[in-house]
Amino acid sequence: MPLKRPHQHRDVSKHLTANPVFSREPISVPRFKLPHDGIDPDVAYQIIHDELMLDGNARLNLATFVSTWAEPQAQALMAECAEKNMIDKDEYPQTAEVEARCVHMLADLWSAPDPDRAVGCSTTGSSEAAMLAGLALKRRWQHRRRAEGKPADRPNMVMGINVQVCWEKFADYFEVEPRYVPMEGDRYCLSAEAAVELCDENTIGVVAVLGSTFDGAYEPVAEIAAALDALQERTGIDVPVHVDGASGGMIAPFLDPELPWDFRLPRVASINTSGHKYGLVMPGVGWALWRDAEALPDDLVFHVNYLGGDMPTFALNFSRPGAQVIAQYYNFLRLGFDGYRTVQQTCRDVATRLSAEVAKLGPFTLLTDGSELPVFAFRVSDDIDNFTVFDVSAALRERGWLVPAYTFPEHRTDLAALRVVIRNGFGHDLADLFLEDLRRVLPRLKAQAAPHRNAENAGAFAHGAETKESVRKVGKPAVPAARQAES
Ligand SMILES: *Cc1c(COP(=O)(O)O)cnc(C)c1O
Repeated sequence: MPLKRPHQHRDVSKHLTANPVFSREPISVPRFKLPHDGIDPDVAYQIIHDELMLDGNARLNLATFVSTWAEPQAQALMAECAEKNMIDKDEYPQTAEVEARCVHMLADLWSAPDPDRAVGCSTTGSSEAAMLAGLALKRRWQHRRRAEGKPADRPNMVMGINVQVCWEKFADYFEVEPRYVPMEGDRYCLSAEAAVELCDENTIGVVAVLGSTFDGAYEPVAEIAAALDALQERTGIDVPVHVDGASGGMIAPFLDPELPWDFRLPRVASINTSGHKYGLVMPGVGWALWRDAEALPDDLVFHVNYLGGDMPTFALNFSRPGAQVIAQYYNFLRLGFDGYRTVQQTCRDVATRLSAEVAKLGPFTLLTDGSELPVFAFRVSDDIDNFTVFDVSAALRERGWLVPAYTFPEHRTDLAALRVVIRNGFGHDLADLFLEDLRRVLPRLKAQAAPHRNAENAGAFAHGAETKESVRKVGKPAVPAARQAES
């Protein structure tokens, strides 16, 4: 994503003008320059509050996987912990203790053979967790290669082209060759055969995604693990699996308990999840877990002597808020296994019912139906040539619904889809209102002579799902096509 320079294309001299609600306002304050004097707190609050009204309504944001609702008690705890720095484990020992309990609970939830031996940490989200898990894989591979007296300078990682952008970042930032398996026909995910084909002695790991951001489908983790077992038998090449369970890590344990995707598979070395997705916490927390201490090389763990305490840390950040970790623990206590199951089942029920209703409307074809992640993707059917998914997205936005439309990556760049993410707080009632609005715009779209919008001129309507081309870094060689960069 291009970094926005605030002064570009803008009139820097244009100040913010304040509406005199309190009769204490200065007439205007600078927009891009630190004001010389301060202002009354009520006035400052009102100015910012008013401007933020233009942000979209988070609850109508069907693009994001990230929590947009929390119980008042969780919010109260977060406010109480706002000043606590997660890194100060010595000063806030109970916050550190709560983090450790959450790791333990997740290790148990993900069937670690011995939850006491599993290691893990909270992070700012799945992206940081992915960096840490990727680094652990890389370091393990380097150690092994060096011990064998073999070169350790050309690591690669195998994954589907549908992986979230964090994996592309990992590969880029930490200099690991990304080997993407393209989509093929109706396969929008990584397959076991295709994954194994790309593995060699320099493969540090295979990333399997439990819940693709493109369409909400689970990748076949058990099949991938089995194929890698066979590879090892055949060739001796031992490739561990990391499961990106950003969403699915908090869905599958509750709704698909018989599906083995986690530490039940001995080849799964590590798992991440976003506490702020189906972990039901407001933005700012993720988790990374390793099946045992051997899976996380000790030389990556820093033992910091911090104000008298020995503090093992594995993190990219130093300072970080503690509030989200506390909110995670609140949800674990508050909901328990059964509460999470009920919340997630309701999301899945809403998703599958809504997708079925969308399919019945006529012009749409489902790619997925919300029966894995409570997320479904649909496209405009082949016989429709006068409107596009980008037109549908724009029309829905007229009523405030934020539904991303995006083009799929290689080899399905011909395919464009809309995606709906059902989260806690989006019940059957809102689903009905959504459906009504979708139904209402259809006659107008059907009457169009030709499409108004396509991938090129959809503008902001990609909602973070822009194609790879548009986010490509200057000077970089062509990289695989679209990547769903959605949060
Ligand atoms: C959202 C997501 C990520 C990134 O997670 P953040 O918590 O937003 O950093 C990574 N992988 C998948 C599959 C995701 O859905």
